[in-house]
Amino acid sequence: MYEEIATELVELGPQKRFLGNRICCRFCGTKDQSAFGGRTNAHTFPEALGNKFLFSLDECRSCNERFAVYEDALCKATGPFLTLGGVRGKRGVRQTGRSNSGSVIQHRDDDGHRHISVRSKGSLENVVGIDSRTGVVRLQIPIEGDKFVPLYAYKALTKIAIALLPEDELHRFRRTIESLQSRDMKPAIGPLQVGFSYGYVGNAPPTLAGSLIRRREEYASIPYVIAIFVAGSVCFQIWLRSDDKDNQVPESGKLGIRWTSQLPKPEGGYHPIKYSEPLQFNWSSVDHQFQPFEAFELRFNPITTEGVFTPIPREVKTSYG
Ligand SMILES: [Zn+2]
Repeated sequence: MYEEIATELVELGPQKRFLGNRICCRFCGTKDQSAFGGRTNAHTFPEALGNKFLFSLDECRSCNERFAVYEDALCKATGPFLTLGGVRGKRGVRQTGRSNSGSVIQHRDDDGHRHISVRSKGSLENVVGIDSRTGVVRLQIPIEGDKFVPLYAYKALTKIAIALLPEDELHRFRRTIESLQSRDMKPAIGPLQVGFSYGYVGNAPPTLAGSLIRRREEYASIPYVIAIFVAGSVCFQIWLRSDDKDNQVPESGKLGIRWTSQLPKPEGGYHPIKYSEPLQFNWSSVDHQFQPFEAFELRFNPITTEGVFTPIPREVKTSYG
């Protein structure tokens, strides 16, 4: 059904890599050489998600500044995952929740040993439970954290997808590219759907990956291009709408690609990560909303010492799923 047309992987290492060239900004079209700034000015994946290695040469300075608000929204939406996963952004690991709010998740790194501490107000019975049959301890960690603007976070994913698009495909995505230029303009009229899945929460491999897959059949009624973006333990997918190849595709689809990443470990070898069945969000709104998860649940088995973190969605939009 699909073929891969672009993949970029960022992993820890000394090597900086650069995409594109300085002839023309792929977002606004400027050819003015003085508009571009330093070579490491435009990060292909958000710096706050840990990207220090992959840069876009064909993104000018003013586009880069314009897109900062989108990237900020995406980081706020993924904040709790970043904290639990220990993803190292521009200013260290993101902490979730303000110190005076109901719950705070903090991440600390002592000589390579990671600690996650959670402080939660409220009565204990609401937070902890023990299954008397299995002995499994269940701990609910409510998340307050930041609010974010869903449309802006969607546009951060769109921007990443456009940055990865092969040059000979750019002309099919004029409307989407244009929408990035003004903050509240939507790249499409229909619902802006995001498939969101997670691998395991906590100890995320410090890796970012973006991938574009393209429909093989000319007239099939499935999206022409799907963009997938993986940040450690979370995986997003969006339908990157083309101007001319998506007219027959129903708005009511579901982004259900079951993704598996082979993420390199810092010490060598690979982590295979299978992501969950994608949850479907509609990120069309320009109103501030709480991030998509209201709690994490930790289930801990004291006999096997196995623990599993599961995020609990605040609200899952399934009206078109
Ligand atoms: Zn530009």
